[in-house]
Amino acid sequence: MNITVFLGAPGSGKGTQAKRLADSQGFQHFSTGDMLRAAIQQEKPVGAKAKAFMDKGALVPDEIMIELIEEALSHVPATAKVLLDGFPRTVAQAHALDANEKTRVARVIYFKVEDQALIARLTGRRVCKKCGASFHVQFMPPKKDGICDTCGSPLIQRPDDSADVVQHRLEVFKKQNGDLLSYYTGLGKDKVTPLNADIDANVLQKELVQLLK
Ligand code: AMP
Repeated sequence: MNITVFLGAPGSGKGTQAKRLADSQGFQHFSTGDMLRAAIQQEKPVGAKAKAFMDKGALVPDEIMIELIEEALSHVPATAKVLLDGFPRTVAQAHALDANEKTRVARVIYFKVEDQALIARLTGRRVCKKCGASFHVQFMPPKKDGICDTCGSPLIQRPDDSADVVQHRLEVFKKQNGDLLSYYTGLGKDKVTPLNADIDANVLQKELVQLLK
């Protein structure tokens, strides 16, 4: 398996970019946040365990997350190109991937965006509960206020996108991210590629396609 990790704060655009790359470049994309939200919606036990942590913007315990991703990756063929988005978030999670030769991380792309831009992106985000499409009240408004362009269902604000929870999520990110970056840069100076992600999404997409060729 050829694994690329997208590292970046919540709201840095790594999920949007990963979804587009999956569609256009044949990557298999795993977003642990999406996996947990799906588990909650489908009333699976792992969703019930994770929900309280997620609602307050805290990290779900490592053992739950490691089991979730290991199970998901166990179905992926060894020849696949994989993008991980939202995992690992701790050094323990990074170790768990690297401990297995099949899931060892090949490279890390670090999406850099200033706090003010992250806060504006996250608190203005609105998502469709039914189909998962994502909008922004200012930067990407739906055609009809509060209604999904794709499936016509009402749009909601994710509970963890409220202003106070966003603040906490960013603090949690900063606390873990320094350690994660040190871990990966310690494995080789070319392991981590930092990118300015505070640019137009289409321009960023082109840069990523070149980088991941
Ligand atoms: P995301 O959609 O990636 O922002 O994730 C939403 C929430 O899911 C996070 O705030 C955490 O509560 C939880 N979560 C997702 N991935 C992880 C992970 N790798 N480790 C711990 N918690 C996670």
